[in-house]
Amino acid sequence: MNSTLTKAAGAVKILYTVTFPEAQAHYADIEMNIFGLNQNTLNLKMPVWTPGSYLVREFAKNIESFNATVNGKEIKAPKINKNTWHINTAGISALTVKYRVYCFEISVRTSFIDASHGFLSTSGLFIYPDKMLNSPSTIKIIPYKGWTTVSTSLEAVNGDQFTRHSPNFDILFDSPIEVGTQDVFGFDAAGVKYEVCMVGGGNYDKEQLKIDMAKIVEQETAVFGENPNKHYVFIVHNRQRGGGGLEHLSSTTLGASRDNYGNANGYRNFLSLVAHEHFHLWNVKRLRPVVLGPFDYDNENYTTDLWIAEGFTAYYQNLILRHAQIITPETYLSAVTGEINIIENQPGAKIQPLAEASFDAWIKSYRPNENSANTGISYYDKGAAVGMLLDLEIINDTKGKNSLDDVMKYMYSTYYKQKKRGYTDEEFKHGLEKFAGKKLDDFYKNYIYGLTPLDYNKYLAYAGYKAADEAADSNEPGLGIITTDVNGKKIVTGVQRGGAGWVDGINVNDELVAIDETPITDITTILDGKKVGDKISVSVVRDGLPVTLPVTLLRNTRFKYKVDSLPDVTPQQMVVRKKWLGLID
Ligand SMILES: [Zn+2]
Repeated sequence: MNSTLTKAAGAVKILYTVTFPEAQAHYADIEMNIFGLNQNTLNLKMPVWTPGSYLVREFAKNIESFNATVNGKEIKAPKINKNTWHINTAGISALTVKYRVYCFEISVRTSFIDASHGFLSTSGLFIYPDKMLNSPSTIKIIPYKGWTTVSTSLEAVNGDQFTRHSPNFDILFDSPIEVGTQDVFGFDAAGVKYEVCMVGGGNYDKEQLKIDMAKIVEQETAVFGENPNKHYVFIVHNRQRGGGGLEHLSSTTLGASRDNYGNANGYRNFLSLVAHEHFHLWNVKRLRPVVLGPFDYDNENYTTDLWIAEGFTAYYQNLILRHAQIITPETYLSAVTGEINIIENQPGAKIQPLAEASFDAWIKSYRPNENSANTGISYYDKGAAVGMLLDLEIINDTKGKNSLDDVMKYMYSTYYKQKKRGYTDEEFKHGLEKFAGKKLDDFYKNYIYGLTPLDYNKYLAYAGYKAADEAADSNEPGLGIITTDVNGKKIVTGVQRGGAGWVDGINVNDELVAIDETPITDITTILDGKKVGDKISVSVVRDGLPVTLPVTLLRNTRFKYKVDSLPDVTPQQMVVRKKWLGLID
């Protein structure tokens, strides 16, 4: 940004007024008033993506009826590309822009409006003046009939909850706003005021949530050594079936299933999501890869470090519950077991290195297709496993003195607090090496940039555990396909790389009809009594035509790992185990 523009940005005042005259038809009407302009031309832009969700979503596609006026008189505001409007502002100091935004996409990262409430995902709702991302703005919300409450981390102006202030656009685009009749409750933890905004009802127990969420907050604050917020908001969208979350600087949006709070698994999964998204307020929102802020809202922002930003966060989402004594060591270890099985049963783990999965998130992980499991790996799952191996390495090397927590705290303090910038790949590696007390060149070469299978047992043994494949001796035959029942038909939805179906040409979208002329009801029953190497005939309907495929059965290669204690645990292993799992004597 040059000095002229900085000066102009400093002088500009922006007021957004958001109304919902047709909330029932899912529209927000935005009026943007810009004052203090002092330049010949102005470009107004809509971000193409929302930070934290690595996909170009083209939010401008939802905008209609864009017009600009000066003193009530319309002026020209032609579009010059997909997300930019160009205005000649010579001699103009104040300008009004009006536009409508269609909001009907249900997710934690997109706006949704109906007669019952409005969720405003700000990056897809507010246009901004190009080169003026530092400008403050005021957002005035005129609620739809019956709406009573606003929940957002943006500060209220003069105590008016319907008028909020944003210091700059990076903060505005990182502060979603919920407006409606939500159920709001609060708790204090780590010296911060927490607000929980429940939308859509549900069988949640507020008092229990306050206790457990406060434990999570305290435990995570202890990892980083400080909690940088004064006020933090959880916006929870409860739906018939919901999930997912998106992290922000001082808030998060979570999806939940409204009737799932009452069962142990559902409740634990919700707390795990709380722990994940809240952990992000440090890891990725403040301690971040160097390219993830300040953001380029016009283009993809590429990083090879999502295995740290997302993977380590996924590692901590369960570990924090364990350290806060919310889940038992057994429950924690069964989550580890689940993770190992997901990674090892994904053929793409042999194709795509972890750093590459991160870099290509924009075009692969966020644009999955029927072949994704064969060609890629999740930086969440494998990143979490790598986080576990590094944690065990550090705990073991330091005889229980340090852990991955110390790396996170050191990196946060060094890069976010002192240097006030993101870290490079090399700098994060140095942070890990500092606490591991050794070079990690081979670890990175093998596990981050390479395709070497993770050696779980080397690291689990430090804590006296092992992961054994219970299916290792099995010689059961399989087709290596995934099917889904659609209107009584068995449709192939996945073909596993290297399996019998892959080798002999069963395709995704084939309707399975018969095996050896026996109509298919259940594949396992039909394969009962058959052996690896047996030749069978698979009849399918493909694009409306019958096709018969000769198939040679191959060994079902699915791993079934289980993590168990080693028979004899040494005192050193017990020290590592206690530190890792937060065991209390
Ligand atoms: Zn995440």
